[in-house]
Amino acid sequence: MSAPIALLSVYDKTNLLDLANGLKGQGFRLIGSGGTAKMIRQAGIKIEDVADVTKAPEMLGGRVKTLHPVVHGGILARDISSDQADLLQHSIDPISVVVCNLYPFEATIAKPDCTIADAVEEIDIGGVTLLRAAAKNHARVSILSDPADYSKFLDALKAGNGKVDEKLRNTLALKAFEMTSNYDEAISDYFRQQYSSADSTEDAQRIALRYGANPHQKPAQAFVTHGTLPFKVLSGSPGYINLLDALNSYALVSELQEALNLPAAASFKHVSPAGAAVGVDLDEIEKKVYGVDDLKESLTPLASAYARARGADRMSSFGDFIALSGECDVATAKIISREVSDGVIAPGYTPEALEILKKKKAGKYCILQMDPTYVPSTIETRQVYGISLQQKRNDAKINPSVFTNVVSKNKNITPTGMVDLIVATLALKYTQSNSVAYATRGAIVGIGAGQQSRIHCTRLAGTKTDIWWLRHHPRVLNLPFKSGIKRAEKANAIDLFVTGEPLEGLEKEQWESMFTTVPEPLSQEEKVAHAALLKNVACSSDAFFPFPDNVHRAKKSGTQFLAAASGSVMDAECIKAADEHQIVFVHTNLRLFHH
Ligand code: 5GP
Repeated sequence: MSAPIALLSVYDKTNLLDLANGLKGQGFRLIGSGGTAKMIRQAGIKIEDVADVTKAPEMLGGRVKTLHPVVHGGILARDISSDQADLLQHSIDPISVVVCNLYPFEATIAKPDCTIADAVEEIDIGGVTLLRAAAKNHARVSILSDPADYSKFLDALKAGNGKVDEKLRNTLALKAFEMTSNYDEAISDYFRQQYSSADSTEDAQRIALRYGANPHQKPAQAFVTHGTLPFKVLSGSPGYINLLDALNSYALVSELQEALNLPAAASFKHVSPAGAAVGVDLDEIEKKVYGVDDLKESLTPLASAYARARGADRMSSFGDFIALSGECDVATAKIISREVSDGVIAPGYTPEALEILKKKKAGKYCILQMDPTYVPSTIETRQVYGISLQQKRNDAKINPSVFTNVVSKNKNITPTGMVDLIVATLALKYTQSNSVAYATRGAIVGIGAGQQSRIHCTRLAGTKTDIWWLRHHPRVLNLPFKSGIKRAEKANAIDLFVTGEPLEGLEKEQWESMFTTVPEPLSQEEKVAHAALLKNVACSSDAFFPFPDNVHRAKKSGTQFLAAASGSVMDAECIKAADEHQIVFVHTNLRLFHH
C-alpha cells in the first residue's frame, strides 16, 4: 500500500518542523507549498513541492500555488468506487491530512498605512480552498488549521496506528469551517467599510458612527450583512445610542399602530420609553399639561400621539429620540421643533415637515427614514464580553387575546381599559427590565425601567404617574410664570413644585425668580384630594408580582386595570389584593423581559 499523504501549506510556521517530523515518523509522504516545503527541507526532512506533483509551477507571485485538480481531487475524493476510479484515471493520489493556516488579513488591515492594494494581496485564496475542501471531506480527511493542535494530533495518530478517529476529524473540521468563516467576515467587514458607507440618503449597507456608547469607544459602526440598512439618514449623523433608541422605539410604535390601528409615537431615552402613546385627542386641560395649548396648527392624530408621548414625563424626555408610526406631518414637526430632542425616526416626512426638522440643532438634528416594510430576522445575535449570545426575537403580539384570563372578581375591562393595557404592556416589551408601566387615555403616564426590584419599579412608575397627574392640578395649570421663561425651565420648575422638593439658597432664589408671585406649595391635603380624582389607569408589569404590595401601590395611582404574568407563589395574595380594591386583574401568561 502506498504511503498516506499529508499536504502542508502554512503561513504561520509555528510547530511546523515538529509536525513534519511526527508525520514522517508515522510513514507519511509530505507535500508542501513553496515556503512551507523549503523550511521543512532545510531542516533535513524529505518533502516534495506541490509544483512537482501538479506539474504546474506556482505563479502570479504566489496567487496560484495549490489551486489544482491534483491537489483538490486528492483531498475531495470519497471512499467510493466512482471517486476512486476518477483518481486512478487522472493519476491522482488521495491526500489524507491537510495542514493549512491563512495569510494574516486582519493583522495587515490593522496597520495604519495599509492600502486597499495591500489588503487585497493578503486575501488567501488557495488556503481557504484547502481548508474548506479538507473540512468538507472530513469523513476521510483530517484538517489541521491550528498549530496548537499538532501535538495532540500526532498523539492520536500514534495511538491509532496512523489513523485518527471520526470524533477528532469532526472537531478539526469544525475548527477549519470557523476559521474560513471568521476570515471571510474580516474581509467583508473591511470592504464594507471601504465601499459601502453612504454619506447621504442613498441605500447603505453600513454607516460609520462617531463613537460607541461613549466617546472613547471607537471605532463604531452599524451594518447589515444582507441587503441594505432599513433606514436612511436624511439629516444629521446618528450615534450608537441614538440607533439603539431609534430601532427599539420604531419597533414599539409600529406594533402600537398595528395593535390599535391608531398613529403612535414614542419618546425614548437611554433605550427605554420615557413616553409612548397612540393618537387619542387631547382635551383643553391636557393640551395645557402637555404644553401644546399654544400650538397654532391643529393637532393631527399623530401630533396628539407625540404630544402625549413627549409630555407625560417632560423631565425624562428632555433630549429624546422620537419614533413615529406614520408620515411626520407639519403639526407633529412643529411640536418637535420647539423641544430639545436628539433625533426622530419615521417611515416618511411631508416635504414641509422635513424642512422644519432639518432646521433643528443648526441643521444637525438626526432624521431617519425607516422602511416600513422591513422585517427583522427571527434570530437576533449580540456579543457581550466577546461571547455571542443568540435568541429568537421577542415577536409576541400584544393584542386583546393577551388579556383574556381575568383572575379577579371584577372582570369588566372597558374598551379604553383594553387600549391602555395594550399601550402599557407593549411599552414594557421595549423597556429595560424590570419594568412596570401605567397608562391612561392611550398614553404611558409613568414608567419604571431598569430596576432590580419589582416593587421599586411599581413605586417609581407610580410616583411618575402621580407627578404627571399633579401637573393637571388647577394650581399647577395656573402657575404665574413670568413671560419669557423657556419651556424646559418651566418643566423643571413645575416638577419642583409638584414634588415639593425642599429648596434652599440660590436654587430657591432662582426658582422663585421665575414667577410674578411666588406660589404657595401644594399642601398634603390638596395632593391627597387631587390624587383621589385619578381613576381608570391601566398598570402592567413585565413579569409576575412577587408580593401584593405592588397591587396596593398600583391602586394608589388610580389603577383600575392590572396586568402581570402569573407564576408567583403569591399569586393568590395578589388576586386578593386586587379584589380588595375592585381592580380588574389579568394574568397574561407572558413575561416581557427586555435587555
Ligand atoms: P508558503 O509559505 O508555503 O509559500 O505559503 C503558504 C500560504 O499560502 C498559506 O497561508 C496558504 O493558505 C497559502 N496558499 C496555499 N495555496 C494558495 C494558493 O493557491 N493561492 C494563494 N493565494 N494562497 C495559497
